[in-house]
Amino acid sequence: MELNPNHAVVLFSGGQDSTTCLFWALEKFEKVYPLIISYKQRHSIEIAQAKIIAAFAATPFKVANLDLGIFAAGNALTDTGLEVDTFAGSEAQIPNTFVPGRNLLFLTLAGMYAWQTGSAHIVAGMSQADYAGYPDCREAFLQSAERSVGLALDRNLTLHTPLLHRTKAETWLMARDLGCLDVVIRDSHSCYNGVRTRQHPWGFGCSECPACLHRAKGYAEAFGV
Ligand code: ZN
Repeated sequence: MELNPNHAVVLFSGGQDSTTCLFWALEKFEKVYPLIISYKQRHSIEIAQAKIIAAFAATPFKVANLDLGIFAAGNALTDTGLEVDTFAGSEAQIPNTFVPGRNLLFLTLAGMYAWQTGSAHIVAGMSQADYAGYPDCREAFLQSAERSVGLALDRNLTLHTPLLHRTKAETWLMARDLGCLDVVIRDSHSCYNGVRTRQHPWGFGCSECPACLHRAKGYAEAFGV
């Protein structure tokens, strides 16, 4: 199977970052295949929103169902009995929203889907600019994963991480420039508490969890409101 240089798989969570990446990919590639990974994360609302956005973008999305709950110890995204850490992460102290090994697994699944769809590209929304502490968002890891997945498939596979060095404010501006700002605000979901009943200029959320605070701060920096 040859991989088509005009096809791309997008790791798609329905959050602000991967929604922006989806629209970035739609500008760059002829065919775009969003891969939504349901891993028994805290809130199924993310998956519901991801499906809405992928359908809105008229992309043929796929949902992979995994259960990472068996590795839930100490992790607030897969263990609903834990409170989400509210401090901003650093390399010295990683918040309990870190799911160990998740991005390596996700990139492997993206590679499998790239093979199936004949896609020579994978697009993912990791950022290391202002969300310190997650080791699997670092450039060194991503370069190594790109090489490993390519070697595993024996194909030239390119991993694109357009947000890697962008702050949240810059990601907001990128969404505006891509013409997807309305979709990001209305449909993308970041809130760790799964709140979609409270609306803000930057979208829906509790406005108190680290994901909401990060999203709101970036929006304010980008647009001055
Ligand atoms: Zn929240």
